Amino acid sequence: MNITDKYDVVIIGGGMVGASLACALADSTLSIAVIEGHEPPANWPADSFDIRVSAITRASENLFRRLGAWEEMEAMRVQPYEAMDVWDATGSGHIHFDAAELGEPNLGHIIENRVITRALLQRLRRHDNIDTCCPTKPVRLMLRSDHAQLQLDDASLLQTPLIIGADGAHSWLRQQAGIDIQERHYRQTAVVTTVQTERHHEDTAWQCFLPSGPLAFLPLPEGRSSIVWSTSAEEAERLLALDDAEFMSELGEAFMHRLGTVTAVGPRGAFPLKGRHAKEYVKPHLALVGDAAHTIHPLAGQGVNLGLADVEELATVVLTAHRTHRPIGSFKTLRRYERARRGDNLLMLDAMGTFKALFSNDTPGLRELRNLGLNLADHAGPLKNLIVARAMGLGSLPSTP
Ligand SMILES: Cc1cc2nc3c(=O)[nH]c(=O)nc-3n(C[C@H](O)[C@H](O)[C@H](O)COP(=O)(O)OP(=O)(O)OC[C@H]3O[C@@H](n4cnc5c(N)ncnc54)[C@H](O)[C@@H]3O)c2cc1C
Repeated sequence: MNITDKYDVVIIGGGMVGASLACALADSTLSIAVIEGHEPPANWPADSFDIRVSAITRASENLFRRLGAWEEMEAMRVQPYEAMDVWDATGSGHIHFDAAELGEPNLGHIIENRVITRALLQRLRRHDNIDTCCPTKPVRLMLRSDHAQLQLDDASLLQTPLIIGADGAHSWLRQQAGIDIQERHYRQTAVVTTVQTERHHEDTAWQCFLPSGPLAFLPLPEGRSSIVWSTSAEEAERLLALDDAEFMSELGEAFMHRLGTVTAVGPRGAFPLKGRHAKEYVKPHLALVGDAAHTIHPLAGQGVNLGLADVEELATVVLTAHRTHRPIGSFKTLRRYERARRGDNLLMLDAMGTFKALFSNDTPGLRELRNLGLNLADHAGPLKNLIVARAMGLGSLPSTP
């Protein structure tokens, strides 16, 4: 079979992480191909909301700004949130974060996934050195000593010194490369939908820890909220089968009517939750980023933000190697990326596992302890600032005295 095309970098997956990586590498002389299996939606009704949304941290916003995609997202639809309110449904534990107290305009933004992807794809199309192959899927991977080859389902054969898997939690590339994962069974499924509530969400991200799992109301434009209700698989199935009126009534009750009654609900979807961590992020001529390398519980809204931090690191490593005429796909080069990201991702995976275990456990002593912990953290200025700086994806808060 003949080589159809040669690229410096081939990225499998044009989702939020893969498209960001392509844009981050594009201000260079590198030739890049993005292989995406699904055509993104061309249009959607103005009054509809994507059931998939992401809490985007300041660090990720800054990356989108540098990639030139932030303005397009803002022009479409983004919702800043100015406060976060978290409480334990089984006790008095409560913690509140306020952007104003920290001298920040907001704590982050809630953005529909399709808005993020569309803005990035628009940006990507403006680069002459990026070819987007869509809808196309790879069918065969061949890792050679000095390059990788990828056969696509349209019979073309690509050759590249660096192939990158940004193809999500069930990564085809990860499996083809024989990279194992460590799994954490959260034994929860997230039910997601968009709702309208009696009272306005006050530009606040709300999260209530129920014994069955966390329930989040994330603010959207026009007073809507996106909900992520994590619960057992059986309970999720039951919630999906309820009619709209029953669902709204149960949701309002579970949320302790913090925003009054739920007055309207959109389509519902469910996502089984599982923690995954690839045992290797890189091999010679191959790297994994985003959900292909790690997935975590969505309770702190960090999944795609970690993926975007991978993007920043991998782009820096590859561009530096390219500029200094070192091989971009060598194991030595790619290990720099793995070393820089693995510890951070593992820390977040561990923290989410601990949080989930701590709040899903109704043992009385533990319940009192976590309620006390929440209240103490609420009154401990420096600790609170540290938590919020981490949640915003920042090492520290520049504007905090
Ligand atoms: C309920 C829920 C709520 C969440 N909330 C948040 C949040 O608030 N904040 C946050 O940071 N994260 C959140 N996350 C996590 C976030 O959604 C993921 O981390 C993010 O989608 C990962 O992006 P990705 O581009 O790595 O993978 P994906 O979004 O899975 O994209 C992978 C892309 O690759 C393509 N693809 C897959 N296989 C192939 C193939 N073989 N060939 C070609 N193309 C392929 C797919 O079509 C897709 O476009 C949440 C997750 C869930 C489940």
